[in-house]
Amino acid sequence: MSKPIRILSDHLVNQIAAGEVVERPASVVKELIENSLDAGCTRLEIDVEQGGSKRLRVRDDGRGIPPDQLALALARHATSKLAELADLEAVGTLGFRGEALPSIASVSRLTLTSRVRPDPDDALSDRAGDSAWEVAVALDGRLDGPRPAAHPPGTSVEVRDLFFNTPARRKFLRTEKTEFDHVEQVVRRLALARPEVALELRHNGRVVHQLPAADGRPEAVQARLDLLLGAGFSEQSLDIDVSAVDLRLSGWVRRPAFSRSQPDQQFFYVNGRLIRDRLVSHAIRQAFSDFLHQARHPAYVLFLELPPRLVDVNVHPAKHEVRFRESRQVHDFIQRALQRRLSQGSLGAVDTADV
Ligand code: ADP
Ligand code: MG
Repeated sequence: MSKPIRILSDHLVNQIAAGEVVERPASVVKELIENSLDAGCTRLEIDVEQGGSKRLRVRDDGRGIPPDQLALALARHATSKLAELADLEAVGTLGFRGEALPSIASVSRLTLTSRVRPDPDDALSDRAGDSAWEVAVALDGRLDGPRPAAHPPGTSVEVRDLFFNTPARRKFLRTEKTEFDHVEQVVRRLALARPEVALELRHNGRVVHQLPAADGRPEAVQARLDLLLGAGFSEQSLDIDVSAVDLRLSGWVRRPAFSRSQPDQQFFYVNGRLIRDRLVSHAIRQAFSDFLHQARHPAYVLFLELPPRLVDVNVHPAKHEVRFRESRQVHDFIQRALQRRLSQGSLGAVDTADV
């Protein structure tokens, strides 16, 4: 006997979607930091307990959420970043699917606290800017609040007991150390891309990273690179900044002599978003092939910028993948730009002065 067709409850739909977006504490941290960056924050505090599975909190000083929109922020397919299909062709924000908060909330105990940042140019923004409000998600998925809370301008999201209601997923969590290593890696990736945002990461009360905001000076950015990738990174690297018609590649590559035995320092961003892409990896490997021993791995922090219409980021919910419209052109541009810089760099090494 067949069962009747039914429409799934929102709560269940969110839990199913959470399977795609929320794999472990680190994926929660990624989504929350991306929201903070999209909110234009200048500082971020990330507080993690027991690898993040017990409790994690991301606090920012971004523009905040008005109290009448707190519930909406937790609703499925609710976003302030996209209004029509045409916007998808030119997404400038890290998020746009309106899935992260409801998904996370469906598999944890989540509290969202926010206070609107007063904006002198916007008369509407201070309608609630002098107080903070909070909503919590109750066990059955219903919302508690909004109720008044204490919070400086900006937003905090606290996530406790991740996967408490989905034991099968909870079982896949690894040791506290492994989970925290993943969190740290996520923080590192975002911190490399956004040096102008001050950041503090704490684990079990201990400060793991404390990164001041880098002003425009190259030394300030280099200091951040060294804090995140080990002292000496910037000194051992060649900087690169090459533009072609629609494409710009900038960042740093470690000189081949300082390549790695592991592929553990490979950070490639497309319009500010860290991605993994076979085509890009291939172009980089090709560029290094004349300079590097087979068993060694190049190390780099590279940023590719191109008009949003030339790249599709809506390939997977976690947005690690992209599709380039002109993939051949992108491949060859990256390969040539790096090859040229590496051959200049090896001359420079003899001369010690790199220009
Ligand atoms: P998305 O980021 O795809 O829009 P989310 O579920 O991550 O979806 O967030 C939903 C909405 O909640 C966002 O569009 C934004 O308006 C608001 N929001 C979430 N986090 C923050 C934050 N830290 N500061 C300000 N607004 C936020
Ligand atoms: Mg988001």
